[in-house]
Amino acid sequence: MPEVSTVDPSTGQVLATYPAADVDAVRAVLAPGQPPQPGWAARPVNKRDELVSAVGDRLREEADELAALMTAEMGKPIGEARAEVAKSATACEYYAEHGPGFLAPQQVDTGAGQRSWVGHEPLGVVLAVMPWNFPFWQVLRFAAPTLLAGNTAVLKHSPNVTGCALAIERVLRDAGVPEDVFRSIVVAEAEVPEVSRALIEDDRVAAVSLTGSERAGAAVAAAAGRAVKKSLLELGGSDPFVVLADADVELAVAGAVRSRFINSGQSCLAAKRFVVHRDVAEEFTARFAAAVTALRVGDPRDEATAVGPLARADLREGLLRQVRTSVEAGATVLTGGGPLEGPGAFFAPTVLAGVTLDMPVMAEETFGPVAAVLAVADDDEAVQAANATRYGLGASVWSADPEHALAVGRRITSGALFVNAVVASDPRLPFGGTKRSGYGRELGAAGALEFTNARTYVVG
Ligand code: NAP
Repeated sequence: MPEVSTVDPSTGQVLATYPAADVDAVRAVLAPGQPPQPGWAARPVNKRDELVSAVGDRLREEADELAALMTAEMGKPIGEARAEVAKSATACEYYAEHGPGFLAPQQVDTGAGQRSWVGHEPLGVVLAVMPWNFPFWQVLRFAAPTLLAGNTAVLKHSPNVTGCALAIERVLRDAGVPEDVFRSIVVAEAEVPEVSRALIEDDRVAAVSLTGSERAGAAVAAAAGRAVKKSLLELGGSDPFVVLADADVELAVAGAVRSRFINSGQSCLAAKRFVVHRDVAEEFTARFAAAVTALRVGDPRDEATAVGPLARADLREGLLRQVRTSVEAGATVLTGGGPLEGPGAFFAPTVLAGVTLDMPVMAEETFGPVAAVLAVADDDEAVQAANATRYGLGASVWSADPEHALAVGRRITSGALFVNAVVASDPRLPFGGTKRSGYGRELGAAGALEFTNARTYVVG
């Protein structure tokens, strides 16, 4: 019988061990027959939205316990964990309020003598493959609109946050969501490719949503393509943070620290590559390195901690390889540079300067507390450097003149452009990537419609 264990990354201690399902057990989770769970889709949307709203209430009621679980399993500083639970509740509240409007049939005038409209109807069972870095937010931002639209869902979460996955399932059930509408399956890592392929090929599964790495996204999308099923991919990012010559450097540095070090640097839309005009590069780099040196690293349960451990020991090894290889190629370490002594997967907050576009810290996604600063001669070179990545999730541009920043930012390929602001997701705005950061949109009106069939009706 396969098992999954969770480990506290701040100590290396095992937290819990769970029985895991094999392919047959996972298939048995799907309801027999077609279409699956017809009762949920047949409920009026205003009955479904009452339940989505109730999920938000329960998240708020249990915020302290859920945050503590998240911190134990993946090391998120406790204040950020509480904020994540609250943000997950806002996604439920947002869709409970606005979702029925997004899903309402759209009347279309096609001429006299007939009535025409577009209905937004559920697809059926949607498989959700999710990552550990925002274990509540990633799931709820998917689940709130997807269930509201009348779909049901099967969640395959990262094994290291199995406690969170089961807690989410319980919260939904306690809020009144019927058992067969949202199920969490626990799968050991070695079985994941086979289990996800089997689920995607199964006629009872209609679509798949994956948030995670490019490698996992490509595997899931290939299986969905073979089965001719809809897929949505929210993948990695290596967002550029562009500081123009006329930027307010103090403001930019504060944004840079917030953006790069949230979630101990493990965020898809964190700024990872800092592209700075040479007129302000020296000042920016010195202030940035000083602010990063001052970040408090430590026990994620301590309210004063700014940066906790990485979520798993193997992630630290990967990050160290990227930093070492970049330094061997000529990058300069201004602060940090490697793991911290002692137990736990801690990595010193790091700033590297003197980088080039081909170094791993620029060419690859760095998923931890490591910032790379590149000085550029002018706006054209800034745009070229910002676009020199396989990813295209977010981008931020900093300038005293927002129109100047917009003009530069429009030349950068990304799913979101923020001017004088840190890139962040917001339930009211669509979120998603371009290039190897994926396709499809979550959140906003677009997110409500992703897993629906835009069905044309004509009555003569
Ligand atoms: P990951 O290794 O790709 O894992 C994500 C999920 O995919 C896990 O549940 C994982 O399960 C599963 N998975 C892995 N290989 C698979 C396969 N062949 N078939 C089906 N499922 C598979 O990514 P991660 O390290 O957890 O997360 C970090 C990555 O996610 C980063 O690249 C980050 O930028 C990205 N991310 C993107 C967004 C966004 O919104 N765009 C948000 C957050 C994170 P196992 O762990 O059991 O293999």
